[in-house]
Amino acid sequence: MIFKKIPMNRFEGFHKMFSGSNENTFNICQECGGACERNKIGTLLPGEKEYIAKKMGISVYEFEVRYLDILKMDDETQLYVLKLGKLCPFLNEETEKCECRNFKPVFCKIYPVVFTVEDNKINFIIDDWCKLSRKRACRIYFETSIPLLLRLPIPIGWFRHVVSYDNLCFDYEQLEKHKNGKNRCVVFSLEELLSLQKTEVETVNLCIDFGEEVEEPLF
Ligand code: SF4
Ligand code: SF4
Repeated sequence: MIFKKIPMNRFEGFHKMFSGSNENTFNICQECGGACERNKIGTLLPGEKEYIAKKMGISVYEFEVRYLDILKMDDETQLYVLKLGKLCPFLNEETEKCECRNFKPVFCKIYPVVFTVEDNKINFIIDDWCKLSRKRACRIYFETSIPLLLRLPIPIGWFRHVVSYDNLCFDYEQLEKHKNGKNRCVVFSLEELLSLQKTEVETVNLCIDFGEEVEEPLF
């Protein structure tokens, strides 16, 4: 299945309306140790690779090679995901900051908002796994992205595919090994991906006690 691309101006509008994280949320992410950066898969929406490549001033081909891998679903649908293995290619390891902050993938920007699919209905919820969910101000702020998401023409088939792995945690070392040293855009089948889940997720730095020393986020 090939999904209809979401037009660039819709992505542009979304990023103008919802700024996502700020210094305060960044402090919380540092406290957390970047748990989602080491366990989760970042999937791009239809048309999003074209949008981000344009914002970066590079060709879509170059963007795919440098930043993306492909997930091939059982019905041959291809989904583009941020490179699987080690760390996201946009994460600056020195500063620990995202280098595509103003045009990062929509489903990165809205996290801890995640979704479930029931019949033909998409439900957006806050992922309690994420430390940002522990602050009321954060929850309320991230929930403001939900009406904006509902305005994006995201095909229901896209949600149906992504929900099959989106809430799971993966073993990034195994993902890296699976690529066999290849740094170009690598194709993973859904079956291969699901076999590389983490059996145990380290909880040392995850969303347990929320330190009071972290400032209440302001937006
Ligand atoms: S899991 Fe939540 S708190 Fe932790 S790094 Fe990711 S977004 Fe930040
Ligand atoms: S694009 Fe940015 S926010 Fe998304 S996983 Fe990469 S570093 Fe994190």
